Amino acid sequence: MIDVHAHMQSAEFKADLKTVLLRAKTTGVRAIICNSTSFDDSIECLELSRTFSDIFPAIGLYPAEDASQLEAVLNLIETSPDIVAVGEIGLDYRYGKDLAQIEIFRKQLELAKEMGLPVIVHSRSAGKYVLEILEAMEMDKVVLHSFDGSVKLVPRIIELGFYVSIPVTVVKSKQKQELATLMPVDKLLLESDSPVLNPFDGRNEPANILHSLKAIAELRGIGPKELETQTDRNAIKLFELRI
Ligand SMILES: [Zn+2]
Repeated sequence: MIDVHAHMQSAEFKADLKTVLLRAKTTGVRAIICNSTSFDDSIECLELSRTFSDIFPAIGLYPAEDASQLEAVLNLIETSPDIVAVGEIGLDYRYGKDLAQIEIFRKQLELAKEMGLPVIVHSRSAGKYVLEILEAMEMDKVVLHSFDGSVKLVPRIIELGFYVSIPVTVVKSKQKQELATLMPVDKLLLESDSPVLNPFDGRNEPANILHSLKAIAELRGIGPKELETQTDRNAIKLFELRI
């Protein structure tokens, strides 16, 4: 399995990261894409990827972060040949529409496109707007991470050729279950969003994507092994992972 969206540089993993990574490996997680949200966070993410061979870095400025870091983050993206994606970027309209977020999102999309890198997109209460921007900018390598938009948008997501990464909350969330069932299997990816989005109690960790694998396989009426092979193939192809 491949966890395409986690934040292993988070303070919550400082004390026992090695144990968490070992648990992931023992559970069958072959690679983890570590997503960053700010400049400092990106530096930590890059450092982790140099220390652990199964961690791959994605760099980006999160919509709720301080916009003054944008130039530094763009520069870091341009000068970091090891990154496999730009993320996590996107729009978060939970507390209302913030137009400045659009500019930050667009700038990072532009650079990703120029560099031929995939983007990992966060959208909260902004699904429709995110799709509009991605479509207008003709983005093709797109992962919608933990997409919370209406499942009515699925036909459009499919038409645009985007990937959807399903979080562990699929074990409980009806919307995620529908998303995991409606998307074509060659556009499905697994993610934990560690340390958050744990449908059980406490801190989330990459090993938990085994729960999603089993839940999605059951929903789709296929074997977990088959789904694992397919989602691994999807991630390896999209992020050009050398594993
Ligand atoms: Zn995240």
